[in-house]
Amino acid sequence: MFGKILIANRGEIACRVIRTARRLGVRTVAVYSDADARAWHVEMADEAVHIGPSPVGESYLRGDRIVAAALATGAEAIHPGYGFLSENPDFVDQVTAAGLVFIGPSAASIRAMGLKDAAKRLMETAGVPVVPGYHGEAQEIVLLASKAREIGYPVLIKARAGGGGKGMRRVDHPDDFSEALSGARREAKAAFGDDRVLVEKYVDKPRHIEVQVFGDNFGNAVHLFERDCSAQRRHQKVIEEAPAPGMTPALRKAMTEAAVKAAKAISYSGAGTIEFIVDASQGLKADRFWFMEMNTRLQVEHPVTEMVTGIDLVEWQLRVASGEKLPSAQAEIQLAGHAFEARIYAEDATRGFLPATGTLHHLKFPDAAPAHAAMRIETGVRAGDAISPFYDPMIAKLVVHGKDRAAALAALRKALAETEVAGSTVNTAFLAALAADADFAAGDVDTGLIGRHQDELVAIAPPNGEIIAAAALAASGAGAQEPTSDPWSALAGYAHFHTVERRTRLRYGEEAILARISMRPDGRFQVALEAPYEEVNSHDLRTTPRLARWPGHVTVFEGAAGYNFAVPDPLAKADEAAAASGSLRAPMPGLVKLVRAGSGDAVVKGQPLLILEAMKMEHTIAAPHDGVVAEIVAEGAQVSDGTVLVRFEEPQT
Ligand code: ADP
Ligand code: ADP
Ligand code: MG
Repeated sequence: MFGKILIANRGEIACRVIRTARRLGVRTVAVYSDADARAWHVEMADEAVHIGPSPVGESYLRGDRIVAAALATGAEAIHPGYGFLSENPDFVDQVTAAGLVFIGPSAASIRAMGLKDAAKRLMETAGVPVVPGYHGEAQEIVLLASKAREIGYPVLIKARAGGGGKGMRRVDHPDDFSEALSGARREAKAAFGDDRVLVEKYVDKPRHIEVQVFGDNFGNAVHLFERDCSAQRRHQKVIEEAPAPGMTPALRKAMTEAAVKAAKAISYSGAGTIEFIVDASQGLKADRFWFMEMNTRLQVEHPVTEMVTGIDLVEWQLRVASGEKLPSAQAEIQLAGHAFEARIYAEDATRGFLPATGTLHHLKFPDAAPAHAAMRIETGVRAGDAISPFYDPMIAKLVVHGKDRAAALAALRKALAETEVAGSTVNTAFLAALAADADFAAGDVDTGLIGRHQDELVAIAPPNGEIIAAAALAASGAGAQEPTSDPWSALAGYAHFHTVERRTRLRYGEEAILARISMRPDGRFQVALEAPYEEVNSHDLRTTPRLARWPGHVTVFEGAAGYNFAVPDPLAKADEAAAASGSLRAPMPGLVKLVRAGSGDAVVKGQPLLILEAMKMEHTIAAPHDGVVAEIVAEGAQVSDGTVLVRFEEPQT
């Protein structure tokens, strides 16, 4: 085993690797950018090396600096985590040339699987079923369009260098092909610096089922069963589980055999995942699955496999990379129970899952696993840490295990309802709605489920009077000196409430709320709200509200939802909001990629006005209402959160 390793990553995966290394007595070196100087992974590691400014291109993607850091600290091996340099064969070459060990497959294995088109050609030769499509070199639009017609619509255009669901477009009709192709190419170019694509059949009622494989340097390869990652939005995984619901022995046998065959075809060493797309339109059939791609690294959702097999995959990675044989033979690897992983992201589900940023002023996970279940919280942030625009906005992975799917799902729901995040917009309510969805509960999940149920899944019931009253009490300032977060008791010491009625202004989204708070001689509080809300009396409340106060805000938690109330500074000029009307602001920091309207243009509600690229994804900004554009940002402009993108002319009435 190694004496010391360097982890070339950040966030939850860096923390995850450090924990296992520590358990095995391996010393750890973290690397960090400017933005991460005080990050948890830096604190957790035995040593840490600064590798550059915050943008990934100047830090976490700087292979040269990472190798230099490993040499300087005497680390013998580098664990790449996932993302960043984990699937970059040139980096592997750099690492080995420096006399260090790369904890992962060989550069040759990564090259064989690195580009989706070449990988598919290779798998075809190895006898692994592959989605019908065009995987060739030629990229002329006329040729691609004619291939699409041959394959038969709907088709999927995919960046051959793609990952994380980026650079992918489903096309249902030939008329839309060329526009979709440009979009996929633009996104692929921005994310991967390679705009070449492949075109394949869009599989009917698709389920994403992948097989975890593991190989060593002695020619052994095993599988650790499957994971189902069909709960997706924009081709990105949302909740993953193991085993796959409804899996049949015949399909499992066929898929796991194909996966091991794929791994052996490239002499694979280390942890890898073979992703398959399954046509579930007639149930799960052993001849209805096809190879999509191989991820030659540890996968984000590896914990569900660990939960059902009891195997620590990072431990296996370290053992195999240090020259040991696979710790278990195939027959010794057993499946027990059921596990789910929910990815908690800083993002706004109600606005097309726009990534969000912010400081996590309040962060609370369930204290203990729900009864009869096991739980793991995989995170790289603590309360007070920031979600910056530089990196992936994942906050945590909530992983649960139960004796069967129903027990695990119940545990997932409970854990989500006990999770509290304030300071950034998060997707916990969306995850909870998905976990409560009837089709999801029945295990009837295909990759289109979230899209079909999107409206219900992202809808958040407006706050009721009790929630608003709790926020108003907390915002009134009366409790500010009190450490307790319970506003109902926090007010108790304030005798002057007997006589004074306190007025508190709040904002919930666009809605301004005025609350009048008074304390009655019997010690009860009354919060009078304007219509349509009723007066709320503290003694009538069912439970103590869960809430968090943070600068300028109060968040009240109800189930997995967090209701954010802005508490305007009474001294600040109140006409900011007025100035903002009649304009469209950037929902997040980003780059204006494409502008499709000019000043003087009459536009209609919903018309795309520009494309904002942020977090390597393209977001279409559409007109919020009919109007005439007075001013619009320039293409290529770098904008920050809240920058005015479009100003509309005053309506003439
Ligand atoms: P997987 O297939 O492993 O579940 P996805 O395809 O959903 O993963 O997305 C994983 C990708 O997202 C990574 O390859 C990486 O580009 C990015 N990513 C997500 N979270 C992180 C993180 N904490 N650090 C670095 N990259 C991340
Ligand atoms: P990435 O590298 O971005 O993860 P994948 O090729 O793994 O790209 O595809 C991502 C997701 O897109 C899959 O999980 C699946 O939901 C969907 N998908 C991919 N190929 C197809 C297909 N041929 N038919 C239907 N859905 C597909
Ligand atoms: Mg994939």
